[in-house]
Amino acid sequence: MLTRLRSFFPYLEHQSSDRPDNFLPVYEPLMAGNEEKYVMDAVRSGWISYLGDYCHRLERDFAQFCQVNHALPTCNGTVSLHLALHALHVGPGDEVIIPALTFVATANAVTYTGAAPIIVDVDPITWNISPEAIEKAITPRTKAIIPVHLYGHPAEMDEINDIARRHNLYVVEDAAQSHGARYKDRRTGSLGHIASFSMMANKIVTTGEGGMVTTNDAELIHRCRRLRDHAMDVNKRYWHEEVGFNYRMTNLQAAIGVAQLEQVTNFIQRKRDIAALYDLHLRHVPGLRTPVELEHCVNVYWMYALVLEDEFVLTRDELINLLRERGIDSRPFFHSLDTLPPYAEATPCQTATKLGLQGINLPSSPKLSDEQVLYICDTIRGLIR
Ligand SMILES: *Cc1c(COP(=O)(O)O)cnc(C)c1O
Repeated sequence: MLTRLRSFFPYLEHQSSDRPDNFLPVYEPLMAGNEEKYVMDAVRSGWISYLGDYCHRLERDFAQFCQVNHALPTCNGTVSLHLALHALHVGPGDEVIIPALTFVATANAVTYTGAAPIIVDVDPITWNISPEAIEKAITPRTKAIIPVHLYGHPAEMDEINDIARRHNLYVVEDAAQSHGARYKDRRTGSLGHIASFSMMANKIVTTGEGGMVTTNDAELIHRCRRLRDHAMDVNKRYWHEEVGFNYRMTNLQAAIGVAQLEQVTNFIQRKRDIAALYDLHLRHVPGLRTPVELEHCVNVYWMYALVLEDEFVLTRDELINLLRERGIDSRPFFHSLDTLPPYAEATPCQTATKLGLQGINLPSSPKLSDEQVLYICDTIRGLIR
């Protein structure tokens, strides 16, 4: 079966269980804490749906981690974005400005509401949404901006919030890739009106599949909580004033999340150490551009990212293939959204398109040892000699 699947989906090749022992995947969750203990505890308690102590603990611990008043678990980072937008009454006739360089979920969540995603170009240095491009894209229909903190580096939030204030727009952070990142001493997830996180297995804090909504706005989180449960009236069972969703997270998933948050400081430190090691050994390689960390930001390097300049001796895809032959997994950057069929009507985004073709993510799991990172750096340097 797998063989047949592989001929259709070559990318499955290295996700199978029969890969060599020394294969370095692009990401693997680290579950070295209380994950197993808490999951078994949840199973034995009988509370395996969305009611349960671990759900409450995760709400509390995640809000504290993000330095916000409220956090709400959901079943994934795509629906948490949709929930946040729907709670803000974003819908048909509205426009939502998003960056061209992001995972497609950012655009799809807008599409689900009936609003139009307005795709704008990114900054060539941080690869995040360009404030000037936002300003140019604003129309009377614009309702919200979704900055994405790409690969763990915060977007330029002061400028974005300033634009939003002047034009009376909502700011919805897509913090799926940036758990723990800081912008001027504040954590992502606390920097706009509302934020969305993903807790998928390859994100910085995981529940397997899962998402979180965070905000300081009590009324907004109340609305999200109600909409998450089919908009059921809190005082009148099975009474629904509007159409809601089932976007709940289970107590089993929350059990993993609570255990993960106990280790989050170590995860972030390890990811920063791995990035520093990559930087040290790859920074001076001709034609390679290593990721930035602006002075007022803390990058959590969700995925360590390189951009191959035009003068680099290999193409990005040649590099990916040569690394794979040597047991090293990697990923291309996201395709610029304006190049994807569902969003092809967007205005072309030159910077994002170029980055999408020339960017590569290297293995970034907190499980990587220093020796493995050095092996990856040596391999890359050996390839271009
Ligand atoms: C992962 C991701 C999402 C979606 O999260 P899921 O939990 O996979 O639904 C949304 N936005 C960005 C930027 C992501 O990286």
